[in-house]
Amino acid sequence: MRYGLISDIHGNLEALYAVLSEIDKLQIDTILCLGDVVGYGPNPNECVQIVQERAAVCLIGNHDEASLGRVDLEFFNYLAREAIEWTMRELNEESMAYLRSRPYTHEFEDTLIVHASPDEPRRWNYIVSLEDAEQSFAAFELQLCFIGHSHTPWVIDLNAEGRMQVRQEYPVTFLDKHRYLINVGSVGQPRDRNPAAAFGVLDTQRKEYVLKRAPYDVAKTQKKIRAQGLPNFLADRLATGQ
Ligand code: ZN
Repeated sequence: MRYGLISDIHGNLEALYAVLSEIDKLQIDTILCLGDVVGYGPNPNECVQIVQERAAVCLIGNHDEASLGRVDLEFFNYLAREAIEWTMRELNEESMAYLRSRPYTHEFEDTLIVHASPDEPRRWNYIVSLEDAEQSFAAFELQLCFIGHSHTPWVIDLNAEGRMQVRQEYPVTFLDKHRYLINVGSVGQPRDRNPAAAFGVLDTQRKEYVLKRAPYDVAKTQKKIRAQGLPNFLADRLATGQ
């Protein structure tokens, strides 16, 4: 099976279209979304509708949950908060119903997917160090775990002796007795200094993972963000991928 893994779309319709058109060329069997379909970007309802149509599974992310009024906005910086408040006013009933019924985790073929971290799927922790990664590996037993949340793609490879290694070259071929924690990056707001939309392809037959990038019309999204009166920085950052 070939899976397309998308995460952190954040209401960026142009980025989502670009990724789906790449996915359509890659013989993908199933699309899985790791959450944060909304927040930051100007097209939350359109993105929810497309994810609903195209993804077999979609998890809930912290921005989705906050946009439903289920998370204290104190947890967000003022830019994110302003965007979430805008998104709350914007979301229609159908989008809210869809987001409300999303699960926190999902398992398939020796693989776990979760938006933020496998140790506390409802707590929205960031994995920013190898210590964090160690704690995450201890929290699941399957070979693979895919996450999003920080908008920075990486692969951490844990060998049978418990040693971790960050892998940055793709494809990553899975070795027996190794386990992997993989961040698929962000479709709608990449923060690894590459403005192209990020997504992942998992091939369970070949035991292989590849990070993919899809350039999109950033200027078009920026224009919409400004037209909606969302914070300017949310438009600016898309151009530099930060
Ligand atoms: Zn996010």
